[in-house]
Amino acid sequence: MPKYDVVIIGSGLGGLLCGNILSKEGMNVCILEKQNQFGGNLQTFKRDGKTFDTGIHYVGGLGKGQNLHQYLKYVGIIDDLKIQQLDQNAFDKINFEGKTYSYAQGFDNFIDTLATDFPNEREALKEYVKKIKEICNEFPLFNIRPNLGLDNEEMYFEESVGSFLQSITKNKTLQNVLAGNNMLYAGDPFKTPVALHALITYSLIEGAYRFENGSQQFADLLIETIQNNGGTLMNNSEVQELKVTDRKIESAVLSNGKIIEADNFISAIHPSVTLDMTDTKLLRKSYRSRINDLEETISVFTVYISLKPDSFPYLNHNYYHFNEDNVWSIPNYNLEKWPQEYLFFTLPKANSTKYAETATVITYMKYDEVKQWENSQVGNRGKDYEEFKRQKAEILIDQVEKQYPGFKASINNYYTSSPLTMKNYTGTKNGSMYGIVHDSNDALRTRISPKTKIPNLLLSGQNVNIHGVLGVTIGSVLTCTELLGMEYLLEKIKNA
Ligand SMILES: Cc1cc2nc3c(=O)[nH]c(=O)nc-3n(C[C@H](O)[C@H](O)[C@H](O)COP(=O)(O)OP(=O)(O)OC[C@H]3O[C@@H](n4cnc5c(N)ncnc54)[C@H](O)[C@@H]3O)c2cc1C
Repeated sequence: MPKYDVVIIGSGLGGLLCGNILSKEGMNVCILEKQNQFGGNLQTFKRDGKTFDTGIHYVGGLGKGQNLHQYLKYVGIIDDLKIQQLDQNAFDKINFEGKTYSYAQGFDNFIDTLATDFPNEREALKEYVKKIKEICNEFPLFNIRPNLGLDNEEMYFEESVGSFLQSITKNKTLQNVLAGNNMLYAGDPFKTPVALHALITYSLIEGAYRFENGSQQFADLLIETIQNNGGTLMNNSEVQELKVTDRKIESAVLSNGKIIEADNFISAIHPSVTLDMTDTKLLRKSYRSRINDLEETISVFTVYISLKPDSFPYLNHNYYHFNEDNVWSIPNYNLEKWPQEYLFFTLPKANSTKYAETATVITYMKYDEVKQWENSQVGNRGKDYEEFKRQKAEILIDQVEKQYPGFKASINNYYTSSPLTMKNYTGTKNGSMYGIVHDSNDALRTRISPKTKIPNLLLSGQNVNIHGVLGVTIGSVLTCTELLGMEYLLEKIKNA
């Protein structure tokens, strides 16, 4: 085995982007993935010949001149990505207290559209947009400029989204509606930093897109570029141990016994799983316990639905439905009222925008609800588990039927995933949706730096910076700046 410049653990978006950037900049990289399929949350799967996304459904910032577009231009895949813009006048619909509100693309359009439902709140809506622009402006990498420590991004990790929305308007309905897609960041009003809300919302209002025929293409394009740059990808290669000698990591030991040596290591998996791989004293006990004690975001239950041909219209938007008078389901999570909210969306059949081929319903689910089956065999967890999933799926489908009468009749077949599926499939602790919880009451402790006390071990992936395609892209760039230099890399990206 050759000795690599950089070994990267995990082939999710974080690992693939680090691999792409470093190999593009001349480094000899090797990506190690424990699963057979590369891509982590970018993976898709097929049932009844139809493609289903697993962990990425829509993204912002992909329009020309927007931040993600520029990052992916540097990465060299933007021209080949097949994307489809969601409805300009309603990329998200929020069904709250029996009424449906639309988020439109473009900041003026966003204000005008919501102002038709809240005519007395136009000024508040303008203030909201002004404020989220101000917040985003404080994030240098969001604006593709080097982080020279001159900006105030920390401040917005210390303010909660709930208090921010209260400062915008006293109208409780509008406060709820403005947080209607908070499932995108597993929101808790007095914990979630306003930074997460602002960065995600801003980029979607700028431009909201789906990946045509699924997000696997994103992973495949990244893999192709890494291979073209001379990089290596190894699947079925679970890293079990990071061997430390001479005050740095010397090699990654795989569960199949192989030993992979490198000068530098990047772990793009959960940080506490990474720390468990090495027992070196270079990592202080206090650092380990800080990382191990961090709270995980909640998990999800998903129903993937295969629809009968030409039976249900394609909806070019996402639909968030709430059963209660509060859009913040996480702090109010109540098993008896499950599901308190869900996200519903459809995907069109190829070359058609009229009919949907698939539909997906996603809602929160706590890991505890499936914990009893955690030691059973994957793919054969028994009748009780199958019955549990069937009952949950039927509840969700009935909920959708209430909003879209006739929906049930157009179902051909359905499949489900639970927090156990999530845990098995991405290696996240307890099937966590977005990794660790960022807490505005304890901002510093809940932010993870890409640097560790082991000089040649860096962290990346959704736990560094923030989750989501844009968050992980920025986090990957941040990690790579540790090897390439901040100003050098940002300059190259800006001028790509
Ligand atoms: C249901 C759901 C919906 C989402 N929807 C969206 C969305 O619409 N838009 C959006 O922007 N974001 C969305 N996200 C968030 C987004 O998917 C993630 O933030 C992002 O993909 C995380 O990328 P990652 O590289 O950090 O981790 P992952 O994608 O989790 O990749 C980690 C990889 O590491 C591998 N691995 C783990 N342990 C080891 C080991 N020991 N050795 C080797 N390999 C290992 C795993 O198998 C996996 O392939 C969603 C997430 C979920 C769960």
